[in-house]
Amino acid sequence: VITLDRVNKWYGSLHVLRDVSLSIAERERIVVCGPSGSGKSTMIRCINRLETHQEGRIVVDGTELTDDLRALDTIRREVGMVFQSFNLFPHLTVLENCTLAPIWVRKMPKAEAEELAMEYLRRVRIPEQAKKYPGQLSGGQQQRVAIARALCMKPKIMLFDEPTSALDPEMIKEVLDTMIELAESGMTMVCVTHEMGFARRVADRVVFMDRGEIVEIGTPHDMFENPQTERLQLFLSQIL
Ligand code: ATP
Ligand code: MG
Repeated sequence: VITLDRVNKWYGSLHVLRDVSLSIAERERIVVCGPSGSGKSTMIRCINRLETHQEGRIVVDGTELTDDLRALDTIRREVGMVFQSFNLFPHLTVLENCTLAPIWVRKMPKAEAEELAMEYLRRVRIPEQAKKYPGQLSGGQQQRVAIARALCMKPKIMLFDEPTSALDPEMIKEVLDTMIELAESGMTMVCVTHEMGFARRVADRVVFMDRGEIVEIGTPHDMFENPQTERLQLFLSQIL
């Protein structure tokens, strides 16, 4: 459902993605890890075209990502994204955050959008927070709102960029539990995270990036118990 074929990207003279090729199947759960600056965020931001690549092809659910605005439109509807900083609209309530895009982008009637939003807020276990503003919630709750908000667009694919790394330890679990439930529901997911417990539990494959390259790909068991490259061994010795 997602194909990257020899994708290259530069920021000026800095080569940040080097011949990145990866095929992700429907319902597959991918965890991306690697050192800081290795290109993890850049790669997943290219998948929903928050960043553009200069060489190679990216195809998402049959649509090749090009300058064509219709392609962009399709991608934005089908790919949900959750960031490290929750990026909620501070002046809108939780419910309004969740209904904004369905109403304006999907042209959903307000009542229907609200019903859908409440359904997802129940799924992430914070329906009682619907009328509050983001600033009145804990970090873990805000991140669960961000997940619910993305799900309200009924995406086919969810991208996560270090969704727990800005959270206090006691809030990490509640967000990971939400992500585990989502994974078990069959959502196609690409998650940048260093939560190796999460990777072991839900990842079909783990992708290890270093200096803009995919250095190794394998099952969590292969990657953690039997890393093939020195670079992955070094990385694991630093984070575990
Ligand atoms: P981290 O674990 O710290 O989040 P990352 O693997 O997500 O790192 P990226 O954010 O993808 O790394 O960055 C890859 C490289 O591109 C880094 O060298 C970074 O400094 C550079 N970079 C990222 N965004 C930009 C930008 N907008 N302009 C110029 N260089 C950038
Ligand atoms: Mg990053």
